[in-house]
Amino acid sequence: MDLQAIVDEALDYADHYRGHGALASYIPALAKVDPNKLAIALVTGDGESYAAGDADELFSVQSISKVFTLSLALNQVSAGLWNHVGREPSGSPFNSIVQLEAEKGKPRNPLINAGAIVVCDQLIGSRDADAALDEILAFLRQRCGDRDIGIDMDVALSESRAGNLNRSLAYFVNAFGNLSNPVEEVLSVYFRQCAVAMSCRQLARAALYLAYDGVDPLTGEAVVTPSRARRINALMLTCGHYDNSGDFAFRIGLPGKSGVGGGVLAIVPGTGVMVVWSPGLNAAGTSLAGAVALERLVELTGWSIFV
Ligand code: GLU
Repeated sequence: MDLQAIVDEALDYADHYRGHGALASYIPALAKVDPNKLAIALVTGDGESYAAGDADELFSVQSISKVFTLSLALNQVSAGLWNHVGREPSGSPFNSIVQLEAEKGKPRNPLINAGAIVVCDQLIGSRDADAALDEILAFLRQRCGDRDIGIDMDVALSESRAGNLNRSLAYFVNAFGNLSNPVEEVLSVYFRQCAVAMSCRQLARAALYLAYDGVDPLTGEAVVTPSRARRINALMLTCGHYDNSGDFAFRIGLPGKSGVGGGVLAIVPGTGVMVVWSPGLNAAGTSLAGAVALERLVELTGWSIFV
């Protein structure tokens, strides 16, 4: 299979949707991003990468970061994490508060905002917030072998200033006793992890362990146990795109995670990782052109977890 030709063709196909959708303007710094960006990167288990468009340009990873913090938190607190956060799709928007009341402050899953905030709290544990953030950054740098990965503080501050809804979620969870650290400390990690800036190629490389049962195929390092890798993928398939997760599974059929920066991560178990980026979002916060590109990529490669 000529993967470079396939990546090029998928970019060409999605080009028609370039600039479609809406920027995540509720985070003012993200409203300034060029809506016409479009990129694809595919990294395979042998370390080869195939890219098209703006695949080396840094963008705000936003909720794609939740997959990495979930990996770290599971390593840290093991199955005890599930006492604090569930594993069911929410069928609700990423920042919804409605289920939290009926479900007594236990978020439905770790990939919605409330769940990711609880995961952050568990990852902080008894350390201070900056130590947890350092761990997240060190993890990402190691996973993609690039020590320059960092946080776009403009985005982090912008999100914090506009963060009333995330603050509400955190206080609500806290009211039910489901946070062990102060709300602002937990949010300071959450906002900064979302504001990490990475390229499509870096993200695809970083997530490779999820395509190989938790083992980084390039370094041989066991990043998470095989069963955790499978479960993280299961959560991505069922919850990775909020109230758009069913449609994403139907159209693309791979475990994935969207971010409101316009990036989408898709895991192809045993083969590699694809990441697309285009900042225009659909109503559920998934990149519109990005999802079209992924749909075309799975059509052209025949990759599926269902064969
Ligand atoms: N930082 C974003 C927020 O909390 C994450 C949402 C997303 O990327 O889906 O609103």
